[in-house]
Amino acid sequence: MKIVMLGAPGAGKGTQAKMIADKYSIPHISTGDIFRANIKEGTELGLEAKSYMDQGKLVPDELTVKILLDRVAKDDCANGYVLDGFPRTIPQAKVLKDALEKQGDKIDFAIDVDVPDENIVKRMSGRRACVTCGATYHIEHVPPKKEGICDKCGSELILRDDDKPETVLNRLKVYHEQTQPLIEFYTNEGILKEVDGTIDVKDVFASITSILG
Ligand code: ADP
Ligand code: AMP
Repeated sequence: MKIVMLGAPGAGKGTQAKMIADKYSIPHISTGDIFRANIKEGTELGLEAKSYMDQGKLVPDELTVKILLDRVAKDDCANGYVLDGFPRTIPQAKVLKDALEKQGDKIDFAIDVDVPDENIVKRMSGRRACVTCGATYHIEHVPPKKEGICDKCGSELILRDDDKPETVLNRLKVYHEQTQPLIEFYTNEGILKEVDGTIDVKDVFASITSILG
């Protein structure tokens, strides 16, 4: 099963994608996580990606597409995957579609997690991410057992640089201009499914599993 998660930054794509990956035993692939891992390791790719990410801009398609296509070619993707944060532009979606078509394959579901802009800034300022394993929490809605510490690996939780309110507003603008058109793209492909992302995490997940089966 190949799944694309759509939605504004902070809509809950990552939260749901991790749960989908666990339930259906497929890899969770987040281009944002790949970039952050490269930033942490100080690679050339990380350095370049950071200059865009810190401004709330998208990393250029050429760079992002190559990384994603290399990742989905790995053996663990043979039974499918859930993409979180890719595609974010129409050209990215077209490249993915063409690459899959060449193998007689396709994306099965594009799930749009719908959360209005008013809720997003609050979501993002409360998000905390683990510096080591990338697990995500929310100080009110999804708190860790011990404040500031990751339940899964015991490392420190931080506010992401690009989750500061001024950057979030930029990211929302970029989302509406460049990513939201994907809703029409996948509607035309006949695979778009919309879920309400404002309800409790487990209720969003129940809506998604009722779609995926
Ligand atoms: P995205 O991957 O779309 O950027 P995340 O999954 O990281 O979003 O979620 C953004 C923030 O909102 C996180 O702090 C997360 O814990 C929290 N969150 C996710 N889903 C919900 C929900 N249904 N209700 C309340 N908070 C949520
Ligand atoms: P995310 O973790 O999905 O919120 O992504 C964080 C940041 O990484 C985004 O704001 C972009 O700067 C960059 N990024 C992640 N995925 C993509 C993508 N598919 N295309 C372009 N930039 C991306």
